[in-house]
Amino acid sequence: MSTKKYNKLFTGVSLCCAMFATSFAQAEDKVYRLKLAETWGPNTPILGETTKNMAALADSMSNGRLKITIDSANKHKAPFGVFDMVRAGQYDIGHSASYYWKGKVPNTLYFTTMPFGMTAPEQYGWFYHGEGQDLMNEVYGKFGMYSFPGGNTGVQMGGWFQKEINSLDDVKGLKIRIPGFAGEVWAKLGAKPVNIAPGDLYTALERRTVDAVEWVGPSLDIRMGFHKIAPIYYTGWHEPASELQFMVNKKKFEKLPADLQQILKTAMRTSAYDMYIQTHHESGVSWDSMKKEFPNIQVKSFPTDVIDAMRKVNGELLAERAAKDPLAKRIQESQAEYMRKARAWTEISDKAYLNSISK
Ligand code: CA
Repeated sequence: MSTKKYNKLFTGVSLCCAMFATSFAQAEDKVYRLKLAETWGPNTPILGETTKNMAALADSMSNGRLKITIDSANKHKAPFGVFDMVRAGQYDIGHSASYYWKGKVPNTLYFTTMPFGMTAPEQYGWFYHGEGQDLMNEVYGKFGMYSFPGGNTGVQMGGWFQKEINSLDDVKGLKIRIPGFAGEVWAKLGAKPVNIAPGDLYTALERRTVDAVEWVGPSLDIRMGFHKIAPIYYTGWHEPASELQFMVNKKKFEKLPADLQQILKTAMRTSAYDMYIQTHHESGVSWDSMKKEFPNIQVKSFPTDVIDAMRKVNGELLAERAAKDPLAKRIQESQAEYMRKARAWTEISDKAYLNSISK
């Protein structure tokens, strides 16, 4: 090859490399900005910390190329409009709870938690290693969205009660604040679930306008102060593993470069798991201080006949849904089959451990 030809070739290669390097640098430097709407008010403990944690992780892992701004409910004014806003592309990401949309899309119910359903580790197994994530995307895909696990509260408590529940007769006419599917179960047993704004719940319980209030667990109940005015804290049956969700607009997600898609997914998964651990921590700390301040709080579980009746009614409500919709049936069967195996293991591991060493 002559020197002239070689130089020409070399120049061509250099130019090509330089062009490639320039466009590569541009792609690397481009900052992608996403807007997130959360159902929660500003600075909501734990739930609101999860979105901040997710955004900070995405920013640092992407070296500043993925910036997520968060609007709380005071800004967007539509805490229960998050589904519609992400669907319409008004926001790119939403942070909420899937069961809030059950009136709009019945099959969204299954992806938060189910009465008598899986515990958090079992349910994370179903989401990440079983069929959970695929089924959730099948439900949300029809609305141009992905949905990912968004943080877990662990087992929620059955609620703060003014009087003891000794039998099914005590359930009749019981005025209880409890939303969602569990409220439907209570109603079928003769209770009267009521819907009261969070800010009015303390007064309603204190003045006995309601007999009982279900909220979350010590981590968040402590701020509501129910333990100061209701003596009995019932253990849970209805929300064994409430998982929040990150909804992501599909078109917006697909526009992200592959590495940022992966970073976003990793940030969501990490922050979701962090919320589960943070809730466990804060419940331990809060329960310790509640017990010290109010040593007369009684922790009780509902009697067996009440639990059995709840389980029966719960099964009937699920069967009604499955009969109407093949996808509902498929999701229910997937959960039941996964839980059968996961629970058999929980029984001889965590449960047996705690039972065998308890004093
Ligand atoms: Ca609850």
